[in-house]
Amino acid sequence: MDIQEFSYQGSPAKIIFGRGALNRLAEVIDALGCQRALVLSTPQQAADAERLSGSLGPLSAGVFAKAAMHTPVETTEEALQAMHSNGADCTVAFGGGSTVGLGKAIAYRLDIPQIAIPTTYAGSEATPILGQTQDGEKTTLRDGAVLPGAVIYDPELSQGLPYAMSVTSGLNAMAHAAEALYAKDRNPVSTLMAMEGLRAFTEALPVLKEAPQDLAARSSALYGAWLCGTVLGQVGMSLHHKLCHVLGGSFDLPHAETHAIVLPHAIRFNEAAAGAELTPLADMLERASAGEGLYDFVKELGAPLALRDIGMTEADLDRAAEIATRNAYWNPRGIDRDGIRALLDAAWRGERPQG
Ligand code: NAD
Repeated sequence: MDIQEFSYQGSPAKIIFGRGALNRLAEVIDALGCQRALVLSTPQQAADAERLSGSLGPLSAGVFAKAAMHTPVETTEEALQAMHSNGADCTVAFGGGSTVGLGKAIAYRLDIPQIAIPTTYAGSEATPILGQTQDGEKTTLRDGAVLPGAVIYDPELSQGLPYAMSVTSGLNAMAHAAEALYAKDRNPVSTLMAMEGLRAFTEALPVLKEAPQDLAARSSALYGAWLCGTVLGQVGMSLHHKLCHVLGGSFDLPHAETHAIVLPHAIRFNEAAAGAELTPLADMLERASAGEGLYDFVKELGAPLALRDIGMTEADLDRAAEIATRNAYWNPRGIDRDGIRALLDAAWRGERPQG
């Protein structure tokens, strides 16, 4: 094997994985040298957050259940007040990427320890990346201070994630790994983790379609989420993530569904330049093309296939192509407006991607 030059930086985060791992939360808070944790959640998961807070006894500084999509700065400011008035010295983010984002935004401002307990597969808990919105504008920063110091992955917590969300969330995670395969700054370890994450999801999601409560499949998917999130934090993303950022930010399309729809098209587009890097994924999906294999996988799972079904209008496609090609960014295949317009058109119609 001819190993090319590479650099690698492992994550300093402590990972605790296992069924019932949630029971170790008090021990984790203590190990971080903290005494009072503010438990964060969305309004939808407030009851679970309250239960978790109750189980912590005096280690809990209460619950702040207002986490929202895209981490609005106003919500963060309200949470900072709750931290202060409740005498909290760390946070416990219990939920998906939105709640983890709030924990990161607080840590970024207060430089305090944070623990993440993910209940979706988005993977934010494993990255030093924070996206925030203010006055309708989303900005993203990368800073070691926002990486949670400890993550508790308990598969039992994702058993209640509805099947449709499990699939789109899983495909969101697979997108991180698929783009990691051809990342400019990839290394042998990121490629190993990406392939293992993709394998975990290709095995788990079809099982969850038949049996959404299956704990073995839930643990495989959550393991995949950790791997895919870790590579997202380690190597640069390209066309697929750029397109999803544009579609979510400028057209307000839902995050995970957008990833699920765009992924086969972005990967098919990039196969022209990164065919060798994507061959292992094509082989895993038992197709000649990774992009076509992903399309068939998404279809078999019953996930959304067309941007027109999640709120995008045909009239917006020109503007989306224009925004997505306005600023230069690295991608294995050169990006041109007509090529991206054609890609978006096929994704809008829900067609099987063509080479
Ligand atoms: P989310 O956190 O917005 O959750 C969606 C909904 O599902 C919420 O109402 C939530 O309370 C609910 N939910 C979560 N887990 C559940 C469960 N087990 N059972 C029932 N309901 C549950 O969605 P998400 O897809 O996890 O995260 C999306 C956000 O994360 C986006 O804002 C995205 O930009 C961000 N993100 C950031 C990174 C990063 O590295 N910074 C990575 C991935 C995603």
